[in-house]
Amino acid sequence: MSKKIIYLDNAATTKVDDAVLKEMLPYFKEKYGNASSLHSKGIEAEKALSEARKKVAGLLNCLPEEIIFTSCGSESNNFALKGAAHALKERGKHIISSKFEHPSVMNSLRALEEDGFEVTYLNIDRNGFIDLNQLKKSVRKDTLLVSVMLANNEIGMIQPLKEVIEIVKQKNPGTLVHSDAVQALGKLKIDLKGLGVDLMSFSGHKIHAPKGVALLFKKKGVALKPLIHGGEQENKLRAGTENIAFIAGFAKAIEVALNERSENNKKMIKLRNKLIDGLLEKIPQSSLNGARENRLPTIASIAFPGAEGESILLRLDALGICVSTGSACSQKSLKPSHVLKALGLDALRVHGSIRFSLNKHSTEKEIDFVLDNLPGIIKELREMSPAWRK
Ligand code: PLP
Repeated sequence: MSKKIIYLDNAATTKVDDAVLKEMLPYFKEKYGNASSLHSKGIEAEKALSEARKKVAGLLNCLPEEIIFTSCGSESNNFALKGAAHALKERGKHIISSKFEHPSVMNSLRALEEDGFEVTYLNIDRNGFIDLNQLKKSVRKDTLLVSVMLANNEIGMIQPLKEVIEIVKQKNPGTLVHSDAVQALGKLKIDLKGLGVDLMSFSGHKIHAPKGVALLFKKKGVALKPLIHGGEQENKLRAGTENIAFIAGFAKAIEVALNERSENNKKMIKLRNKLIDGLLEKIPQSSLNGARENRLPTIASIAFPGAEGESILLRLDALGICVSTGSACSQKSLKPSHVLKALGLDALRVHGSIRFSLNKHSTEKEIDFVLDNLPGIIKELREMSPAWRK
């Protein structure tokens, strides 16, 4: 018999919903056409693609032609940043972002720096929010792009994007604003037209769609240089035969997530708070990373100084509890988290932090199991730690 798994790593990825799988299945064996073909099978595929695009546009409040389907959130972020920078380089070479973006943004920025662009990285305060005063002072005449994530993937803090857009547009109406909303989708209300953002990235596998499908919102009129050259798919902006099955599944997943949003959020906030309160009460000197308020319903990152994050993760895994020490992408390198460092945590807290990320399937029984087992694990690990015993 397989061990019961308590999956608390939903910020890394989620399992595919039954409704999403059902939506996808016809496109593998019956409606398998290429949306660019002129015959009936192609027309069938093109119709499915355009229906999915319309559905997503309706759900996120934008125009269908403002949706570009991509392969992953990382591609959407690369495309937004490199595509905008290279399209606008005659206007300037200055970009603003923050110190705690996802690696797909951070490393795109590094690549742009190598290409001669200048990047200002905004500081993060102890509560996990970007510095709006620094933003105000940093926007210049030659600032072509500002990229600030809507919600952070390691600590869950929601950034004041509306204010970011107001500040940027007031100081320089020509500066584009991009936001990585990969973790926010399905949890926060997203009204693209109302928000006034120029570019926004989303990914399917964080909301119960499969891995390998995502999208970039590009406001009408915004110029982007393509990353992938080839055919004329996605309005000539992203070549490659469209993955209709996954795109249809993604559209369904967004629909389900938004329909269930308030009910799921209520449930997850209750469980997340129980987890935070229980752990802080039972484990001396543990602390929540980031503020209590303005966080995603799903994420709680907690520091257990004196215990090594990877050791905690392995001990929990042995009990069937899946968590993470930081973002899934940087886990294997075992480098200390740039997000936790940006928060200004001391080394023991950076190295002893665990991210718990819930989803709609999480239960009170699962949270109780963590609360029953983790305090003992931390106690044992601390007893073995020379740095803690000192
Ligand atoms: N942005 C954020 C905030 C994320 O959490 C992730 C995934 O962890 C990504 C971007 C990358 O998305 P994908 O895994 O689809 O490339």
